[in-house]
Amino acid sequence: MTEPLYYSHSGQTEFHAAVLEIRPGKNGCSVILDKTCFYPEGGGQPSDIGTIHGLPVQDVKKENGHILHVIKGDKGDLPFAEGDTVTGVIDPDHRRDYMEQHTGQHLVSAALLKEVSLGTVSVHHGKEYVTIDVDREVVSREEIIRVEDAANRVIRENHPVEIRWVDEAEAGSFNLRRQPKKGGRLRLVLIGGYDAAACGGLHTGFTGEVGLVKWTGMEKIRGCQRLYWKIGRRAYLDYREKTDVINTLNILFSSKLKELSDRAGKALAEQKRLLKEITRIQNERSRMLAESLFGRSREEMGKRVVTYQFEGEDAGFIRKTLDALISRGRTVVCFVNVMMDGSFTWFIGCSEDEEIRFNDFRSEILPLIGGKGGGKPPLWQGVGRNPGTIGIFLNTFSSFCHKGR
Ligand SMILES: [Zn+2]
Repeated sequence: MTEPLYYSHSGQTEFHAAVLEIRPGKNGCSVILDKTCFYPEGGGQPSDIGTIHGLPVQDVKKENGHILHVIKGDKGDLPFAEGDTVTGVIDPDHRRDYMEQHTGQHLVSAALLKEVSLGTVSVHHGKEYVTIDVDREVVSREEIIRVEDAANRVIRENHPVEIRWVDEAEAGSFNLRRQPKKGGRLRLVLIGGYDAAACGGLHTGFTGEVGLVKWTGMEKIRGCQRLYWKIGRRAYLDYREKTDVINTLNILFSSKLKELSDRAGKALAEQKRLLKEITRIQNERSRMLAESLFGRSREEMGKRVVTYQFEGEDAGFIRKTLDALISRGRTVVCFVNVMMDGSFTWFIGCSEDEEIRFNDFRSEILPLIGGKGGGKPPLWQGVGRNPGTIGIFLNTFSSFCHKGR
């Protein structure tokens, strides 16, 4: 049997203990001590983190009255043996965090029931949030505010959090918030007449130590509503992070907190309007350019071959121009778009009533620019490596198409 120190001395973070047994296992060894501060995983609460004899503890589990500390490595490689005394240290911040989470969750679940008649279906203690699933699909913002206010009031009133072990019969005299899952000896957590629940987790000594609980969001899950909560120092850190984000946004939008949503909404609406306007102008520009290129192109036997070199143009605009040209029929097009850094892309298109034998084209013309790429009618595209030969490439394309090869 391992004596759990975490219940009697929940503030203790360092301890000395005798090694009773070392069990070899698949993922390292399980070390059993005569006593421990390490809280084992259970009841939705993760285990403590820390070290034994300086070695990181990977996991802590409870098994038949023993508490197993999982440590990496083979039994023979460990720097201690059965019968030795070792020093264990748990991470005090991690422990305090989960004590705050547990007490805060009791308060929120109690407030949910008392204030808005919502029962807690399940709880998950995550690294970022505590989630509480409640037995109703729709929860209003007004209800959440009532719950938040009530839980924070009980925190500020700084009630003692009392732990009492009782047997099943005794438990009936307490007005427990929920039916205990198991019978026998029960560990009750009593919060100043506000809440009573059976729980095996670790809690703060007073509600005031929780500091703050804050609801941050919700989502519908299988007929329940899942509520997300930031509790304790996490709520404070969340407040700090959100203040930083809001201050940055206030600078960007030259606004104050109360005007921020309105300003951001207006800025987005304006952006939408401008994008629409840009699209309209771009369409008009590509239509005009297509018309001018068509007019300037050489016609042979009713077929037009259009070539053009763009400089750092938007690919969408090039596609629009190309589409406008090939929609006229009896037209083939070759565009090159040279970027500032000298890299370039090429585009080839042909109208429905024309044909480009791309395989011939690939072997005869693409090597001129060190080009790669492909496609299928009506569009082919790719990249090139030699910007110095783009002129030759476009002229060769022209004569290649006019020859009808
Ligand atoms: Zn608890």
